[in-house]
Amino acid sequence: MTDKPICTYTMTTLESNGLEELCQSLRCLPSVGPKSATKMVYHLLQNDRVGAKRLALALLNAIETIKHCNYCYTLTQDEVCHICQDTTRDNSQLCIVESPSDMVALERTLIYKGRYFVLMGHINPIEGQGPNQIGFTPLLEKIKSHKDSIKEIILATNFTPEGEMTAHLLAESLKFTGIRMTRLARGIPIGSELEFVDLATISHALSDRQLRL
Ligand SMILES: [Zn+2]
Repeated sequence: MTDKPICTYTMTTLESNGLEELCQSLRCLPSVGPKSATKMVYHLLQNDRVGAKRLALALLNAIETIKHCNYCYTLTQDEVCHICQDTTRDNSQLCIVESPSDMVALERTLIYKGRYFVLMGHINPIEGQGPNQIGFTPLLEKIKSHKDSIKEIILATNFTPEGEMTAHLLAESLKFTGIRMTRLARGIPIGSELEFVDLATISHALSDRQLRL
């Protein structure tokens, strides 16, 4: 009789800790608050334990095998991603984008044949995202080491306030290189992200890109 409450208490505490830990872990994802984290945890444990296990294994596998491309900084399982491995690409153009999805969006237009650099984010002082939190330093190193071959830098960050801020900072920081800098044309609606813009609009924005002073 005396053991039961202690046992029950211990079990409850352990269970709560496990659930709490899982909820807290999910909150490392952007835009996931306590409510949605709890909802996801209940869903996975109640309705889809197979999916939950698959997710856990895929995450572990990705953490161990996926790294930054040596050239463009995107995420890849190889030392150099498949786009950078393409030796037919034009080394004189370097297009800077925020995310791998933006790179894919530009690739789908079939217009751009130059090289890329993926920042893996943007500047956002409110969320504590400064140059050190994105691929700013590797970008500067890359440009310095390829200064002679790069003839144009295309600032293709998104047309959101953060993307504009990032483009501005890049333009200021890269002025010293003397390399011609262009920005995608304004056909892309203000506030929009490249990956959600239709192909024709991106194609026009690329073709009509403007010199950035
Ligand atoms: Zn790459």
